[in-house]
Amino acid sequence: MTPFDTFAMVDWSGGNDTGPTPRADAIWVAVARAGQVDAPVYLRNRGAAEAWLANLIDAELAAGRRLCLGFDFPFGYPAGFAQALTGAADPLGLWAWFAERIHDSPKSNNRFDVAAMINRDLGHGPGPFWANGLRRDIDGLPRTKAGYANPFPDRRAVEQRAKGAFTCWQMAGAGAVGSQVMMGLPVLERLRSRFAGSVSVWPFEPLERPVAFVEIWPSLTVDAAPEGWIKDAWQVHEVARVLAGMPDQELTTALTVTAPEEGWILGVPAALEPPPLRNDCFALPAGVDWTPVDEALELLRTRLAPVTGVDVAPLDRALGRILAGPVKALRSNPPQPNTAVDGYGFAGPAPAGPQAMPLVAGRAAAGVPFAGSVPPGAAIRILTGAALPEGVDTVILEEDVTTDGSQIAFRGPLKRGANTRKAGEDVVAGTEALPLGRRLTPADLALLSAVGVSEVSLRKPLRVAVLSTGDELVEPGVAAGVGQIFDANRPMLISMMTCFGFVPVDMGRVPDDRAALKATLNQAAEVADVILSSGGASAGDEDHVSALLREAGAMQEWRIAVKPGRPLALGLWEGTPVFGLPGNPVAAMVCTLIFAHPALAVLSGQSWAAPQGFTVPAGFEKRKKPGRREYLRARVREGRAEVFASEGSGRISGLSWAEGLVEIGDDARHIHPGDPVRFIPYGSFGL
Ligand code: AMP
Ligand code: MG
Repeated sequence: MTPFDTFAMVDWSGGNDTGPTPRADAIWVAVARAGQVDAPVYLRNRGAAEAWLANLIDAELAAGRRLCLGFDFPFGYPAGFAQALTGAADPLGLWAWFAERIHDSPKSNNRFDVAAMINRDLGHGPGPFWANGLRRDIDGLPRTKAGYANPFPDRRAVEQRAKGAFTCWQMAGAGAVGSQVMMGLPVLERLRSRFAGSVSVWPFEPLERPVAFVEIWPSLTVDAAPEGWIKDAWQVHEVARVLAGMPDQELTTALTVTAPEEGWILGVPAALEPPPLRNDCFALPAGVDWTPVDEALELLRTRLAPVTGVDVAPLDRALGRILAGPVKALRSNPPQPNTAVDGYGFAGPAPAGPQAMPLVAGRAAAGVPFAGSVPPGAAIRILTGAALPEGVDTVILEEDVTTDGSQIAFRGPLKRGANTRKAGEDVVAGTEALPLGRRLTPADLALLSAVGVSEVSLRKPLRVAVLSTGDELVEPGVAAGVGQIFDANRPMLISMMTCFGFVPVDMGRVPDDRAALKATLNQAAEVADVILSSGGASAGDEDHVSALLREAGAMQEWRIAVKPGRPLALGLWEGTPVFGLPGNPVAAMVCTLIFAHPALAVLSGQSWAAPQGFTVPAGFEKRKKPGRREYLRARVREGRAEVFASEGSGRISGLSWAEGLVEIGDDARHIHPGDPVRFIPYGSFGL
């Protein structure tokens, strides 16, 4: 029960009274309700803010509305501090502790003395608090970090994930939040006891009451303020607007975190692993005999969700990994207007006919801007990539100019802006550079670098356990007896997982023995996020994968109207999804490409993507019955799709011969040479 009616977002301040005129670095509040954001309110000091907030809470409770009240300072300190100070690891106990000791008035307060007292009492040396912002020296509170001693973590877990967050141990200096926390928690504590029974504090208490206090950090998401806005006012306005417009489901997900001691910042992806898949995620609609391919894909698309956790990595470790959230440009590309060519810059436009202009001394080159300004009617030498100097908005190509070194001559006309690139014409700072779920390519790394992004939040790589089942299987390289065959699926599936960007975990071969298979599945569920098995997935005597999954109560036999293909056994083993593929190598590969690949992509955090196919003329003839989709092993030669001579599903050589699949729709078809068919290259699947 989390969704709210009203969102009030507060930009707090740890400083003194800021006077009657609205200004930055004061307290600002913005309220959003029913799709409308009110003009932000300026509050000159904490006393005024406390009274204003109490009124707001009163009014919302009286109106029967649920209120989400956000504050931009930490609700807790790094792990261990509450215990050391109060004897209990309860952050709300810490709130009460500060409320008893902090004295606050519009003109002065005792925050630095309290910080110093804590440092002295804890007796660890100079720390954890530092940065005395007062003129007088205070015993126990160092001015700088020289000789600093801090027995606690420098940052909360959430601050390690939120780039640029400050530590609450720093009491003064640009951007420091230490004072805000110490001067904020007592106010929250008083509001909490004044409205006891009506307020829940996130994420320490379940959000069951009509008012929730949540921690926000506007700089995490809000773009630069537009002209005429005070930054703090803009930030609370934007956070209120965005939260009020967020779908309930998304807000509920963002509020689902476990951080009982330190607290968390709303909007930072949670540290905890994502929720497990639902037991019925593979359930098929009742009464359907053979499920069409598109329906099967749609079920996978809608039922599955990412199962991997999130970490942060620098760009040089991000290739092939998946973005856990959208990435915004930190800087525009280009950051400032510049020239696209070598030539001469001036204030355009230039009229038609012969033109002559004096040259100013100096030049503008990439990375070496021209510091002065170019007067109207004059030109300057300028080289590709150079920022346009003041007075220049147009560039004439060097090849179109004659010069004697002191003036240039050329022939007009030339439009204003010719041969220049506008600031942000490629990407504007603050806009989304790449979306959530994107698997990063080399070009993406160029883009992120260009817009100033050096670190990204990524899904941890999906670990896929691969096993083969069957008494007949032996490892290539050993002598195979009569009735034995070499295990072909495992090397194929393991390497497919690598091509897809996942981490394969080789679980080996398992005989057709229920106890052995059970042990291997148990182990696989421990070490991997997904299990991919081949063989034993039908309903025969020796089909132990499906039998075990059925016994565990979380198995669905997917009978899909597809050729080649046998039933797929989809289920959960100890909460870990299992894709039980047919043993036949051709069916195993096609089912992996068509079904497992997109499903695993979603489990890994990627957005759903259908493989890109191309229409090409058929180089073959084929009659096909209605009722199921067919995939033929194929390749393109001389612009025509050739198919492998035999459709036999044991013909592994055809898989290797092929360079993709020809997909033939569910209806009956008689394909003649030259008819258009859809060819999907292996590369479109990621191979
Ligand atoms: P199954 O799905 O277990 O009934 O197997 C179907 C067919 O695929 C049988 O002919 C198996 O011998 C064959 N098969 C199963 N697993 C593999 C494997 N890993 N490599 C090669 N062939 C296999
Ligand atoms: Mg078998």
